[in-house]
Amino acid sequence: MLHSFLYTANPARIVFGPGCLSEIADEVRHLGCSRALVLSTPSRREDAERLNHQLGGLGAGVFSEAAMHTPVEVTERAMEAYAQAGADCVVALGGGSTIGLGKAIAYRNEAPQLVVATTYSGSEVTPILGQTENGEKTTRKHASILPEVVFYDADLTLGLSISMSVTSGLNAMAHAVEGLYAKDRNPITDLMALEGIRALKEALPVIVKQPKSLEARNNALYGSWLCGTVLGTVGMALHHKLCHTLGGSFVLPHAETHAILLPHTAAYNALATDALAPVAELFGGNPGGGLYDFAKLLGAPQSLKELGFAEADLDMAADLAVQAPYWNPRPIEREAVRELLQRAWSGARPE
Ligand code: NAD
Repeated sequence: MLHSFLYTANPARIVFGPGCLSEIADEVRHLGCSRALVLSTPSRREDAERLNHQLGGLGAGVFSEAAMHTPVEVTERAMEAYAQAGADCVVALGGGSTIGLGKAIAYRNEAPQLVVATTYSGSEVTPILGQTENGEKTTRKHASILPEVVFYDADLTLGLSISMSVTSGLNAMAHAVEGLYAKDRNPITDLMALEGIRALKEALPVIVKQPKSLEARNNALYGSWLCGTVLGTVGMALHHKLCHTLGGSFVLPHAETHAILLPHTAAYNALATDALAPVAELFGGNPGGGLYDFAKLLGAPQSLKELGFAEADLDMAADLAVQAPYWNPRPIEREAVRELLQRAWSGARPE
């Protein structure tokens, strides 16, 4: 095959490996900074305090109000805390919610960002910020949003619950699956996507059985870095559109929604592209059914109904999902999407 493509890599400084957080002070200094505001969710405040302490004179304090979907009012309070602390950079310790807050601050004041990633959702390597205001979620893409330094220290993920490990791992896989058929994909993103899927396919079943396996945790972070990088590099399609619709308009939890929909969107698009052939090979013959069986093996949620989604809302969800559609390898047809959602709602295996 004669390739012809455009490849733009996002700059990234990745510090990877168990124990690597010990290098954080050096990395703050390397950025030319001296006052780091540490960010976290409320439940991770203690860890954030510990990290602030570890930073010694470089720690400017902790702001621990990060929340899912980056509410603008939280960002405004964080901006005040940043100014009051005399901070000159942020350290986001956590998953996509905390990372989103760091990105929202950087988008407003260009603060350099260090991220200590503790879930597998992949936000730390993308220049994308989704934020909510008055119940509406908007997405922005800008160079200032991309974190400067990312730490992947598996020691910090040993306590991530099995359910969160599984759903955020499947969230990462969804980035890579959509990356494989993206309109602007290229041989490099294909390599990253397949290696990321392979690593997570190997790691997640081990984490379910042995959540304290440092090797599996390290492998899962490796996969999530690769899958996140794909998300930050190429365009997403039907799967992400559906997840944004269900998350934004029906307030469904992010990672779980990705986990439930992935087999169905893969099955939908496998009818129109052979780009998922390597996924079929990895998961035993057919991408939709194979991904469904894999999620089942992991004990992931498999139906929108178990998230409390009302069957009566499926029509509205289908209507919203086909409005302003993202590019997709298969035409986005309202009736076919409605059918997909019905199967995802009931938890049926994709045909
Ligand atoms: P999260 O950040 O919401 O974390 C879920 C919960 O797990 C939180 O309570 C958190 O405190 C806790 N937690 C995180 N790491 C932990 C650990 N190691 N041990 C124990 N508890 C831990 O989860 P998420 O799925 O990573 O993030 C979801 C958010 O990220 C959504 O708002 C989504 O829109 C966003 N996101 C953005 C992008 C992007 O590129 N912009 C990509 C993926 C996700």
